[in-house]
Amino acid sequence: MPVLTNIGYLATCRGNGSQSDLHEIRDAALAWVDDQISWVGPQSSLPLEFSTEPTIDAGGRLVIPGLVECHTHLAFGGWRADEFEMRSLGKSYSEIARAGGGIRKTVRQTRQASKSELLEKSRSHLEAMRRLGITTVEGKSGYGLDRETELRILEVYRELEETQPVRIVSTYLGAHVVPDEFKADRKGYVDFICQEMIPTVAERGLADFCDAFLEEGAFGREECREILETGRAYGLKPKLHADQLSCLQGAELAAEVGAVSADHLEHASEAGVQAMREADVVAVLLPLASLYLGQPAANARRLIDSEVKVAVSTDFNPGSSPNFHLPLAMTLACSLCRMSPAEALKGATIYAAQAVDLQGQVGSLEEGKAADFAIIDAEDPNDWLYRFRPNACVATFIGGESVFTADEVI
Ligand SMILES: [Zn+2]
Repeated sequence: MPVLTNIGYLATCRGNGSQSDLHEIRDAALAWVDDQISWVGPQSSLPLEFSTEPTIDAGGRLVIPGLVECHTHLAFGGWRADEFEMRSLGKSYSEIARAGGGIRKTVRQTRQASKSELLEKSRSHLEAMRRLGITTVEGKSGYGLDRETELRILEVYRELEETQPVRIVSTYLGAHVVPDEFKADRKGYVDFICQEMIPTVAERGLADFCDAFLEEGAFGREECREILETGRAYGLKPKLHADQLSCLQGAELAAEVGAVSADHLEHASEAGVQAMREADVVAVLLPLASLYLGQPAANARRLIDSEVKVAVSTDFNPGSSPNFHLPLAMTLACSLCRMSPAEALKGATIYAAQAVDLQGQVGSLEEGKAADFAIIDAEDPNDWLYRFRPNACVATFIGGESVFTADEVI
């Protein structure tokens, strides 16, 4: 029963209260048995029975729940650095996509990648994420689009879950774009998703969620509705890429289909925000994508003021966010989306856990939950996110086991 002592600021990040309410404990201690937290509280109240247990000294630092990365496109072939240059010189994301770049280019590269290539590349990303204090990662398919490659990506996630010390959540995103072979037959592709892919993915237990990209050049509202409702009928919980580049009433649709989360939301309507609040849809904000695309970020204030829970994620993908640095996304959530550091922290822990429906197991430091946590070299969340550094994480634990210890803080 190890005990973490000398915690200067323990952000428990319990789900109740407002977005900024971290339920912090100063001068705290944390104990766990096997993979579960058994005691949390002020160190002065640590029960006597813990005094003979092995201790780890947190050095008076900040301790947070393991970060939950709730929106990535983790497994893909190749990169798209050439497009970064084109966008820097003024070409828009849509222009590049129309010229054969964008998602379709990554689809071509992913179809050519072997399972072991995808595994190795994703594994190295996950290892780097653990160093940042990330302990749970959602990964989407959507760069295969054909049956074989989509299943290969989801199998990669399953294998990573079985072999890597990290929690993985899998999402089927067949509705990312219409692949070239269905260019003249959109309906045929939607039918393929609904009649062949969703039943297969569900039957093999390869995904927990079904996602869709509602956008001009991707999928329309009614296509997304059909796909998400079909997924739901097969036990895949809905998620939606909504209102990123234009307002297509994605927030409203997410509420209508009972989505667990609606992600992006830069252009969400007021009615959509209200509908999300009523349906308790988590808003996932992705400020790194806004940064890379040079577009205004979503306004978190209006969501939080409307009592919508706001999660923060990187949207890690080879196009609009080739970057999995969640603490950087949290700092940007403060400076671009107008969240406070405390709000961003709750957004990358308990609310991110809700965005992947794991809030009962991870995302907060409470008795009975997973002993997933990170020691951060900072006094408190303000100090951490304000003074951004390449990596302020000192140590990461998953299920009570140490998975990373820093040689030095950089
Ligand atoms: Zn995305």
